[in-house]
Amino acid sequence: MSQQAPDSEAAAGPHVLCEDLFKIYKVANLEVVALRGLDLKVQRGELMAIVGSSGSGKSTLLNLVAGLDKPSAGRAFVAGADLVTISEPEMVEYRRTQVGFVWQQTGRNLVPYLSAVENVEVPLVLAGVSSRKARERARQLLDDVGLTERLHHTPEQMSGGEQQRVSIAVALANNPPLLLADEPTGELDSIGADSVFELFGNLNRRYGVTIIIVTHDPHIASRVDRVVAIRDGRTSTESFRRVSERRNTIEVTHDEFVLVDSAGRLQIPRAYLDRLNIHDRARVLLGDGLVEVLPEDRSPSEGPSR
Ligand code: ADP
Ligand code: MG
Repeated sequence: MSQQAPDSEAAAGPHVLCEDLFKIYKVANLEVVALRGLDLKVQRGELMAIVGSSGSGKSTLLNLVAGLDKPSAGRAFVAGADLVTISEPEMVEYRRTQVGFVWQQTGRNLVPYLSAVENVEVPLVLAGVSSRKARERARQLLDDVGLTERLHHTPEQMSGGEQQRVSIAVALANNPPLLLADEPTGELDSIGADSVFELFGNLNRRYGVTIIIVTHDPHIASRVDRVVAIRDGRTSTESFRRVSERRNTIEVTHDEFVLVDSAGRLQIPRAYLDRLNIHDRARVLLGDGLVEVLPEDRSPSEGPSR
């Protein structure tokens, strides 16, 4: 008799699901609301990026999804694990088996006095893999990230891009289905950044690992399937890459959308609000197949302004 996997239902849903997520940091007597009702859905096998200005809540979101910190309120599920109610021992197990993490600072990812292959062995040996098997897997992983020639180099003997590729091998050592990277190319030159982004694409295609990259790289949209922008602790816009063939040439275009949450809230781009002088309130009118947003001092009968 075949037994149904207990998590088959979770496996059918999105890999990452955040709904109305809040994170409030308390510093002395002050509360900082880093995430304020954030919604995000990431499908299994997706390669996506999160962008947003400094302080918008990107790292906070990634840390919550990584199980490094707990949400204050809302819902967060990753591969069926409920990150709001999860116990501390379950959280340790979750971090060990479900996620790989790459930080911006290579120094945070790698042990400086260990060689590349030894760095990749660390998480394997900690997970109880025999030293022979760990060496075998570490070599394979470094081959996968294109560093066959650098097995015995220490971090300082490698370029920044190479170090980050070792960091990615370390993050993938125990075969997590989800890879998270917080500004992984932030300290790299453009050649190093290119090599790292190309690697994310290869790993995503080859192994189907879900990848979420937080980045400031202005060219990110052409390297991932989808880019979600965060503003003030909420997701605001989303843009999809569309590849089509026209007259024998491959055309890549981007479709951009504003996100509407379950309560009907959306963020109107700041530039539009400024241009129309909309501050505290606006009129929302249902037109023929569209919704119009007017400054409050413009009466609906005035019609569209030119
Ligand atoms: P980003 O990664 O987009 O730059 P963060 O998630 O780091 O943004 O920060 C979002 C907000 O939360 C900022 O206002 C930041 O100062 C605050 N914040 C982040 N981490 C902490 C913390 N550990 N304690 C207090 N406030 C924090
Ligand atoms: Mg950050």
